[in-house]
Amino acid sequence: MGRIFLEHMGGSRLFSCARCDTNLTNRNELISTRFTGATGRAFLFNRVVNLTYSEVQDRVMLTGRHMVVRDVSCKSCDCKLGWMYEFATEDNQKYKEGRVILERALVTESDGMEDRTYNERRGVGENNEGGDNRVNLSRRGLGQLLVHRPVRN
Ligand SMILES: [Zn+2]
Repeated sequence: MGRIFLEHMGGSRLFSCARCDTNLTNRNELISTRFTGATGRAFLFNRVVNLTYSEVQDRVMLTGRHMVVRDVSCKSCDCKLGWMYEFATEDNQKYKEGRVILERALVTESDGMEDRTYNERRGVGENNEGGDNRVNLSRRGLGQLLVHRPVRN
């Protein structure tokens, strides 16, 4: 087996594989949250990275529409995450071609750079260790600034 090369989309509000935390996409790529997958709510994205694609399959969607899709799985842990629209038979569905559905239950949302900065300002290191470390670092940095500030008038 060759080495798996993973991309990282960056940005704020990251979407990652719920099983292995591989970065998949971000909020900027989100087109719609009003889709339904096998596990319930699903999101439509413009671009998603770190996926593997199944063979093309004909499928009748929950809406009754006939679509040509590929199942998509996490490149890192092989967990099935949703599907990609390969070909739409109806003109008003063409915008979905090449777009990817990720099922809400199979991905996790986390804060990107912008939200992490926001947490630092509030002094809250919410639920991940990376956030806590950054808060501590910024506090230490602030302490050094104060030490180096001239004390004489
Ligand atoms: Zn994964």
